[in-house]
Formats: sequence, structure tokens, C-alpha cells
Amino acid sequence: MEKNIHSRLLIIGSGPAGYTAGVYGARAMLNPTLIQGIQPGGQLTITTEVENWPGMKEVQGPDLMIQMSEHAAAAGTNLISDHINKLDLSKRPFEALGDSGTLYTGDALILATGAQAKWLGLESENNFKGFGVSACATCDGFFYKGEEIIVVGGGNTAVEEALFLTKFASKVTLIHRRDTLKAEKILQQRLHKNEKISVRWFHELEEVIGTESPKGVSGVRIKNIKTGVKTTMSCKGVFIAIGHAPASELLSGQLDLHMGGYVATKADSTETSIPGVFAAGDLTDHIYRQAVTSAGMGCMAALEAEKFLSHSE
Ligand code: FAD
Ligand code: NAP
Repeated sequence: MEKNIHSRLLIIGSGPAGYTAGVYGARAMLNPTLIQGIQPGGQLTITTEVENWPGMKEVQGPDLMIQMSEHAAAAGTNLISDHINKLDLSKRPFEALGDSGTLYTGDALILATGAQAKWLGLESENNFKGFGVSACATCDGFFYKGEEIIVVGGGNTAVEEALFLTKFASKVTLIHRRDTLKAEKILQQRLHKNEKISVRWFHELEEVIGTESPKGVSGVRIKNIKTGVKTTMSCKGVFIAIGHAPASELLSGQLDLHMGGYVATKADSTETSIPGVFAAGDLTDHIYRQAVTSAGMGCMAALEAEKFLSHSE
């Protein structure tokens, strides 16, 4: 294993932002190195149909991400399977240390580490994670054939997860803390039409109930936040779909973050508070958080990195 890999452009993250930066960076002859992380392809690898990627009426998320990785590699990006556990943005070139022990250095750096699923933070949720509690319907839905399932959340992810889970479950109940959904109208329409799905408005999950031996979920206790009335429901699976938080832990104290951990960038730009470090995709976007906007920012970041490198030469 090589212990030091230097590139003019180092990209961290392999979602739509990272791969698009790879395509543009390679075509600008920057010979980029892209570190894929523990989720090669990013968040779209844990979903099924993607219906809003322009040019494709419908594509499976994992297939789209394989195509993007092949595109970045064909353009000349060096894709590396590693996970960065330490970053030093105070040095030039910038340094990133991988779990493999390799030190990656870059004259310019694009951060595209995306976002990770949020959890409610309940002790019982944590206890049953992997034993009936999940944040990924495409990964775990199959285990709940003929069973009752609850999904918590009211955004696009929650509604898509609920719809997807009806392929396996006998019944899906969506638990939402308000009486309106954030999800796109077309998804809401599909949700309300689906006879297997019911919605409990103004409810929150209080506790996941289950057994320790064998370990598994048998139900949940939910609370009506208007009346305070608590209800117990039986179910075998609990899917938490309450949004995502930016993966910026490695950056804390090194560059400007805002809005709860998103990387702050200059207006109409992917430039961060450190010259030569650019941020793209869900790591910096607290508003749109879409594949297409992430890809757009990946393109911007590579073009801006190219400009930065040519000016600094
Ligand atoms: P991500 O896709 O989050 O990728 C982040 C990458 O960074 C990963 O490859 C990860 O391995 C890597 N990484 C993280 N930390 C490190 C590290 N320390 N070292 C190295 N690598 C690291 N959007 C749509 O437009 N249409 C949809 O239909 C759609 N469906 C979705 C369904 C679900 C279930 C979810 C969760 C999201 C969906 N989205 C959809 C949103 C979309 O997936 C995101 O907006 C998009 O993936 C963000 O891209 P990104 O490149 O910023 O980061
Ligand atoms: P989101 O849009 O942030 O929605 C999170 C949902 O969870 C909201 O309904 C929120 O309630 C609820 N919630 C948050 N914290 C909660 C808590 N502690 N307890 C109970 N409920 C809580 O997140 P998302 O659905 O994961 O979507 C993330 C991004 O990815 C969005 O930009 C979305 O458009 C995108 N995405 C797109 C697609 C698509 O295009 N098809 C699919 C999936 C995701 P409130 O409504 O009360 O705030």
C-alpha cells in the first residue's frame, strides 16, 4: 500500500457532488484523486427509483451511482476505496489521512462528504438499531414480509420509505408530528392512495418496545402531542426517516460551519473560508439537498478549483 498519494486536486466523497467534481476535474487535466468513503455512491445507493434525474424518467439509485463512478473513472479520476479519519487544512498541500494508513495530499481540496441519517436519540431506538430499528428501507425492508411497520417522519424520505415498504409489509403506519407533510405533492398523492398506509398525525415516537432474547421489536409507544394521549401499537419494524445531518465532524474548528454544521460557502460559489478548499453537495446545502443540485455544485467546485490552481501557479 502506498503511504502517500499527492494530487493537484483531492476530492473526498463519492456521491453526485464528488463524482461530478471528478468528471470536471479530470477534464481540466487536474488528475484528481477521489476518496469514496464507506458508502461508495452516497445516499442514492440506499434508495430505489429516482424519478427526477434529468434525462432519465426513472433510474434505480444504485445504478445511477455506478454510472457516475464509471463516468468519473473514464474521464481520468483516480477512485480510491478508503475513508478519511483526519483532515489538516492548516497545511499546504492539504492533508487527509485514510483508515488504510495512506496520507492523501492535495494542492486543492473538494469536500463532498454529504449527509448522514438523523436519529431521534431515544435510548430504546439505539438499543434496537439493527434489531428492528432502521434508517434504510431499501437495505432492511425485505426482512419485514407480511409484518406491520411504522415509519417516522414527514419529508420525501419518510413518504418514499413508507411507499417502498408496502411491497413487503402487511401494513405501514406513518407517524408524523404535524398534520402536513413536507414531501413533494406527487409523493403525498401516492401515499394517500395506498391502502396499506395510514397516517397518525400529531404523533411522536416515545419508545420502541421489544424483547432482549431473542432481540427484536414488538411494538412502539406513541404520543399525541396535542392531547398527550399515549397509544401502544404492535409492529416488527421501525424506520426512522427524519432527515439528514451534514457529515462535517472532521471539519469542526478548521473552517467556517453554519446552520448546525453545514459548511459555509461564499455567495454563488463553493469557496469555503479557506482558499483552495471547496465544498459541494449536501455538506453545504441546507435548502435543496437533491442529487441534481449536488452534481451542479460538484461541477462548480471543480471549475473553481481549476481557477484557484492556475492562479496559484
Ligand atoms: P452523498 O450522496 O451524501 O455522498 C457522500 C459521500 O461522502 C459518500 O460517498 C460517503 O462515502 C463519502 N464520505 C463521507 N464521509 C467521508 C469520509 N470521512 N471519508 C471519505 N468519504 C466520506 N435526491 C434526488 O434528487 N432524487 C431522489 O429521488 C432522492 N432520493 C433520496 C432517497 C433517500 C432515501 C435519501 C436518503 C436521499 C435521496 N435524495 C434524492 C437526496 C440525494 O441522495 C442527496 O441530495 C445526494 O446524494 C447528495 O449528494 P452528495 O454528493 O452531496 O453526498
Ligand atoms: P427533511 O425534508 O428534512 O424532512 C424531515 C422530516 O422529519 C420532516 O417532516 C420533519 O418534521 C421530521 N422530523 C425531523 N426531526 C424530527 C424529530 N426529531 N421527530 C419527529 N419528526 C422529525 O428530510 P428528508 O425527507 O430526509 O429529505 C432530505 C432531503 O433529501 C430533502 O431535500 C429531500 O427533498 C431530499 N430527498 C428527495 C427525494 C426525492 O426527490 N424524491 C427523496 C428523498 C429525499 P417537520 O415536517 O415537522 O419539520
